[in-house]
Amino acid sequence: QKSTVVITGASSGVGLQAARALSQKGWYVVMACRNLSKAENAAKSLGMEPDSYTVMHIDLGSLESVRQFVKDFRASGKSLDALVCNAAIYMPLIKEPLRSPEGYELSVATNHLGHFLLCNLLLEDLKNSPSSEPRLVILGTVTHNPKELGGKIPPRPDLGDLQGFAAGFKEPIAMIDGKKFEPVKAYKDSKVCNVLTMRELHRRYHESHGITFSSLYPGCVATTALFRNHYPLFQKIFPLFQRYITGGFVTEEESGDRVAEVVSDPQYNQSGAYWSWGNRQKKNGKSFLQEVSNEASDDDKAERMWELSAKLVGLA
Ligand code: NDP
Repeated sequence: QKSTVVITGASSGVGLQAARALSQKGWYVVMACRNLSKAENAAKSLGMEPDSYTVMHIDLGSLESVRQFVKDFRASGKSLDALVCNAAIYMPLIKEPLRSPEGYELSVATNHLGHFLLCNLLLEDLKNSPSSEPRLVILGTVTHNPKELGGKIPPRPDLGDLQGFAAGFKEPIAMIDGKKFEPVKAYKDSKVCNVLTMRELHRRYHESHGITFSSLYPGCVATTALFRNHYPLFQKIFPLFQRYITGGFVTEEESGDRVAEVVSDPQYNQSGAYWSWGNRQKKNGKSFLQEVSNEASDDDKAERMWELSAKLVGLA
């Protein structure tokens, strides 16, 4: 029987290519997406074998939808052998925060809180996997990390003392640190939470549940729809800049292959790890374990972030 992987946000970009790569490696792929027909068309356009995948609805920005997805997935009777938390939104140009149905700032709600709930609910399913080593992989990014070149551009992420989370994270609060709304920083903060979540999952559940938790930075995939909400000129120049100046450019295919390796190859069996192929892409470049930012390696902050997030998603 095939192993099953759930991939969030598999209707475009990195997630779609990861779905394609894992289906080619013989996995059964559950594409967890908010737009079913878009995801179906995307899978068809890549020629994915019809019996190697299914599309299921999830809106990561809505906690109710995340819970419904878990019910629907369980009703399918499939075992869960791997989960990839990939979906994200990036809204660099908005002036006022958008809100989730629960009233939370939408990029943190989608990128972090929705995935936080999903991971917690599916832990049991991963634990019960017949696979000897189920995996949970969360997409990270270099922009979470001011120690790296790509992470030095302001605004830098900073969760502060999580005052915004502690105060309930609803109007008028829009940032985790409780400060003024800054959409680029909100995205970076959400990605710091993704890395903290991975590390805290590892600390809490690796031994007891036998799950391998990891994150990766797949390289700068400058052509994806992640940048659709940026200035048109930026969308034109950014890929060229990454390809010819910084050398960080990675194709969507390659980024998907990298995610698929971290999900399925024996060499990526280290739990708590953050994988990278570096800032400058070299031909046949090898992956390595990368240090995460100071904030993302702060264990006390990870624990506090965990407890406050659990409250916000209704788990505590
Ligand atoms: P894309 O915008 O191409 O893909 C994002 C995916 O997330 C889409 O499938 C989108 O669905 C989905 N999505 C967005 N909001 C929701 C929601 N509320 N519910 C369900 N699905 C949702 O971006 P990328 O492929 O570039 O990004 C994927 C991941 O890779 C992200 O976690 C990002 O942080 C990470 N990453 C990307 C890098 C890059 O350079 N591009 C670099 C480092 C990390 P829809 O198609 O309906 O919009």
